[in-house]
Amino acid sequence: MVLKLETTQIKDWKGYKGRPFLISGPCSAETEEQVMETARQLAKINQVSLFRAGIWKPRTRPNSFEGIGIPALKWLRNVKQETGLLVGTEVANEKHVYEALKYGIDMLWIGARTSVNPFTVQEIADALNGVDVMVLVKNPINPDIELWIGAIERVARAGIKRIGAIHRGFSSYEKTSYRNQPNWQLPIELRRRIPNLPIFCDPSHIAGAREYLHEISQKALDLNFDGLMLESHINPDKALSDAAQQVTPDELNELLCRLILRNPSTDDPRLLDVLGELRQQIDVFDDHLLDLIERRMQVAEKIGEYKKANSITILQSARWDEIVRRVMIKGRSKGLSEEIIDTIFKAIHQESINHQMRIMNNGVDVKPENI
Ligand code: PEP
Ligand code: MN
Repeated sequence: MVLKLETTQIKDWKGYKGRPFLISGPCSAETEEQVMETARQLAKINQVSLFRAGIWKPRTRPNSFEGIGIPALKWLRNVKQETGLLVGTEVANEKHVYEALKYGIDMLWIGARTSVNPFTVQEIADALNGVDVMVLVKNPINPDIELWIGAIERVARAGIKRIGAIHRGFSSYEKTSYRNQPNWQLPIELRRRIPNLPIFCDPSHIAGAREYLHEISQKALDLNFDGLMLESHINPDKALSDAAQQVTPDELNELLCRLILRNPSTDDPRLLDVLGELRQQIDVFDDHLLDLIERRMQVAEKIGEYKKANSITILQSARWDEIVRRVMIKGRSKGLSEEIIDTIFKAIHQESINHQMRIMNNGVDVKPENI
């Protein structure tokens, strides 16, 4: 189902200088001097449109730096006056919205820890009713696209037209090199569901470390994201929050220079011909994949019948372990990433279990999580 929201196209947004719409600034506003100096240096980078700084910081543990609060709103106003950059900050309740609007803040974003909560998002949306301000909604920390869309809808219903989403990755129990899992299929699905919604990527919070910022930014551009939000600080190592993922404005400039901007589409008939032919090949392979999965499920069902007749449990972890090892080795030798092998085979295994459950329970669909 495709959702049509009344949005203003990003190229008509105040401050738009071309793709990507670039937002940068420190994770947190710490001192007036740090804010002003970072902003001055960022203003020299042509591509930067909007200066960000968190002033109310949702921190995981108490006793961390929780932001300067209202006094920093003046600093943001000064940034705007002195540099001409637009300014934005995070809001996490209605009071934040009212305070930020008093100081003429151009963009408000709803953070990942807030977009998980429909009550709070609604409270913020109500405070925004009838206001013409730019609002960006970060994905909730859990990979739940409906929750993300729900938060966007609430804001859109308040009449906000310059509305966008920010993809900042998802929390995961598993330890990986990135701080948050990108799960790129979620923003891709978001684009399919709300085609006219501008989508930004926040490589800083996905990466958690500055060394990955470039590769994530490039990937976002190749997926045709509309904008990027990258954290920067005049002295990143001394930052009071998110030190490892911030870069200096000079480093940001250098990163931007290395990004390659490709065309989102083409109308060259020769290119379209070649692409059309290749896409037909892809469709054929997708059909093969579906046929194969269907046949694999038929075998799984036979196994289910056998296990039922002999009263054996569905999950045989030694066998599952053996499958994972085997496909990992084989998949790697075919140049496939561990991530894709893991995702595909976990999904296939889950589907086999579901089919076997149905057999065991006389055709009744039993959800494994209810057992
Ligand atoms: C931030 O942008 O500094 C922030 C707190 O982000 P998130 O809500 O993505 O964690
Ligand atoms: Mn941060």
